[in-house]
Formats: sequence, structure tokens, C-alpha cells
Amino acid sequence: QTLQDTLLSAIRTIPDYPKPGILFRDITTLLGDARAFRRAVDELVQPYAGAKIDKIAGIEARGFILGGAIAHQLSSGFIPIRKKGKLPHDTVRVAYSLEYGIDEMEMHRDAVQPGEKVILVDDLIATGGTAEGAVKLLGQMGTEIVAACFVIDLPDLGGRARLEALGVDVHTLIAFE
Ligand code: IMP
Repeated sequence: QTLQDTLLSAIRTIPDYPKPGILFRDITTLLGDARAFRRAVDELVQPYAGAKIDKIAGIEARGFILGGAIAHQLSSGFIPIRKKGKLPHDTVRVAYSLEYGIDEMEMHRDAVQPGEKVILVDDLIATGGTAEGAVKLLGQMGTEIVAACFVIDLPDLGGRARLEALGVDVHTLIAFE
């Protein structure tokens, strides 16, 4: 089975969630399918095998699940990027744009060291606002962002182009128009 077929049959699409007119791409079905989950993680890590990645930065919450698996496979550390107020120690914080309005995300100040090689991970990139916030946080800390990886790209919403304009390599497995 091709990667595309595996992903297409494992990702569930839910119409009108969280609001009317939105097609929500649900990866919980992919995570629950042992073969599809392994395949997705294998494909996400494949370009970075041997690249000595220091840390995987996962975006709350689905980026934690994929990022943990990727970190294990690449023998890298894992660091969480979370919505504000959830991390217990000193943090750095950044505002990022949502579809309607803004929010803030943060990471622990001591989670990365300047010059470390980091890969950013989330399940899906849409407008790129969330990932751009994470890129800014990691950039502020002086890390080298090797790539940003997502299972799903929604190219019509422009997120990939937005990250590439910041000089970030983007790696995705499947696109939905
Ligand atoms: P962006 O900031 O517009 O790129 O939106 C991406 C963020 O929203 C990611 O953290 C995704 O997990 C979440 N997101 C947006 N649309 C979907 C969807 O259809 N399925 C799952 N997550 C989504």
C-alpha cells in the first residue's frame, strides 16, 4: 500500500467541526492504527536519520504524541511547547495568531541551548500561525531549526509558504486541498 493510501484510509474527516463549514482532519484514528502510526513516524523521521538532532519540539497537544515517537526514533530529547500557564518553571513566551484573535505559547527557558539542532513537530499545518509562533520561540533561544514536520498540510491556507518565507524547511506527508 502506498503512503498516500495508508494515510488517506487512516485519517478521519469530520464535517462541521468545530464549526459549520470546517472539515476537521482527525488523526486520532491514525494514532489508533498501529501500522499507520508506525508508517507516519517512519516517514517523518526518514530525512533526518543520522542528522544528530538534539531535540524535538512538540506543539501541544497532538505534536506531543508524534514528537515523542519521533524523538525516540532519532534518539533526540523532547521539549513541549505549551499554551501559556501550563509549564511549572521559568518560561519564554510568544504571542501567535489564531484564525480569530491571538493567544500565547511558551516553553521552558532552559529547555534548549543556543546552537542546538531542533525539529518542530505538529499534526497539521493550516495558516501556519501556530508553527510560526513556535519558530519564533525557538529562534529567540538561538536554536538551529532543522525542519518543521507535520503529517498534514492544508496548502490553500498558506502555512507552508509562511514558514518557508522564514527560512524553515517544511516536511509534510499528505496534503488536503
Ligand atoms: P494554524 O495555526 O492555522 O496552522 O493551525 C494549526 C493548528 O491548529 C495545529 O496545532 C493543529 O493541530 C490545529 N488544527 C487546525 N485545523 C485542524 C484540523 O483540521 N485537524 C486537526 N488539527 C487542526
